[in-house]
Amino acid sequence: MDASTSSAWSALAYLIAGVLFILALRGLSSPATSRAGNRYGMIGMTLAVATTLVTHGIASLPEIAAALALGGGIGFVIARRIQMTDMPQLVAAFHSLVGLAAVLVGWAAYLNPGAFGILEGAEIASHSRVEMGLGIAIGAITFSGSIIAFLKLAGKMSGAAILLPGRHVLNLGTLALILGLVGCFTQDEALWVIAAITALSFMIGFLLIIPIGGADMPVVVSMLNSYSGWAAAAMGFTLHNTAMIVTGALVGSSGAILSYIMCKAMNRSFLSVIAGGFGADAAAGGGGAVREQRPWKRGSAEDAAYIMKEAENVIIIPGYGMAVSQAQHVLREMADQLKAHGVNVKYAIHPVAGRMPGHMNVLLAEANVPYDEVFELEDIQGEFAQADVAFIIGANDVVNPAAKTDKSSPIFGMPVFDVDKAKTIFFVKRSMGGVGYAGVDNDVFYMDQTMMLLADAKKMVEEIVKALAH
Ligand code: NDP
Repeated sequence: MDASTSSAWSALAYLIAGVLFILALRGLSSPATSRAGNRYGMIGMTLAVATTLVTHGIASLPEIAAALALGGGIGFVIARRIQMTDMPQLVAAFHSLVGLAAVLVGWAAYLNPGAFGILEGAEIASHSRVEMGLGIAIGAITFSGSIIAFLKLAGKMSGAAILLPGRHVLNLGTLALILGLVGCFTQDEALWVIAAITALSFMIGFLLIIPIGGADMPVVVSMLNSYSGWAAAAMGFTLHNTAMIVTGALVGSSGAILSYIMCKAMNRSFLSVIAGGFGADAAAGGGGAVREQRPWKRGSAEDAAYIMKEAENVIIIPGYGMAVSQAQHVLREMADQLKAHGVNVKYAIHPVAGRMPGHMNVLLAEANVPYDEVFELEDIQGEFAQADVAFIIGANDVVNPAAKTDKSSPIFGMPVFDVDKAKTIFFVKRSMGGVGYAGVDNDVFYMDQTMMLLADAKKMVEEIVKALAH
């Protein structure tokens, strides 16, 4: 096959892969079609990888095989060892690798432009310098920003916002300087320019993410996902790989759309979050609020079983703790038993419950909870007034009324479930001392109609299931 026929076939294969990726994203937009979406994505990726292997240009097959064996081997070991509850920080860590890869590809192209076919005479083509400069900048921001997100999600760094004085001026100034240097790079391909772009971009990645805390963190996770897509697209330009450009742009734009939707759902300003918590000062001071000694009531599995069996409407609100204890399967058993007693059971999913977008939906789907019993915040909020029981399992921030009333709280402004309107509230968590991600006390613990069910979520629900059976 001659070179032009081969490139026509690879262009066609990449086009088909791109269409499959679009179908994958479409499928993933609803739980009912997500399995099909995953399959489209896998077929598309297999096609794209196979085409790259057949038409490989820059690296030889043994080099590609060695990289696949090394990266694949490390990925295999990590995937075998990782706990489901550590997935959010793993995703952040993987985003950082995409960013780092973009930086390394940019630098490789800079150091050996002939191998990448980007020379124009003796110099690097100016459009390639723009791609390279932006690719390295986006990649470096993704890398360092994702490292901070990883540390915050893994609890190795405080989840609260860290607000440096004068940070807006510093951030905006650094961003302007990076763009100026990319412009300068088109005129002068000196080493110091590209080194300065890389160093400043690593720095701004840290600076943009450390002021983000509490309820803004989920948006940042999806923003970093978006950045990793743009970094991959930039790499695609440098490597002249259409599939990477298309895939990167799809990940970049879908991540940006998801971030926008989450910002709207969370009552946050999109621009404020991407500009490193611009205007977040008012809400920043509340993390780690003083915990008072207030009276509260302890309930038992038997109390919960008895009251829920007699109820007409029960709304279950799952959160991060359900994921920690892997209580979703036994929770579905509990719901099945309640339904057998004629109780109307619904699940209420908050857009930021858990530690990843869609975290609760995935776990409930894994436990085969019917999709038509699962409701988004805006669809179920009005039903709490008619609910006999709100069963909160491992959720905390997403039911905290401080978001509505306390301006100093880091979650102020975020919409939360109106659980206080339910006749009875069961609150499953391990201890009165534990707080949610935002680190703030919760008035719901102390309400007249609340019974605290203090235990590991899975163990508590297992006991309720036993009590229901008797
Ligand atoms: P929270 O983090 O607010 O609360 C988790 C609750 O689970 C705590 O009360 C904890 O209390 C309890 N818990 C932990 N382990 C167990 C267990 N084994 N059994 C029973 N209970 C347990 O969770 P939410 O889902 O309500 O809120 C999500 C928070 O995470 C929000 O602040 C959101 O902004 C943030 N976030 C969300 C992301 C996303 O994309 N969804 C990403 C990053 C952050 P105790 O320790 O006493 O058991």
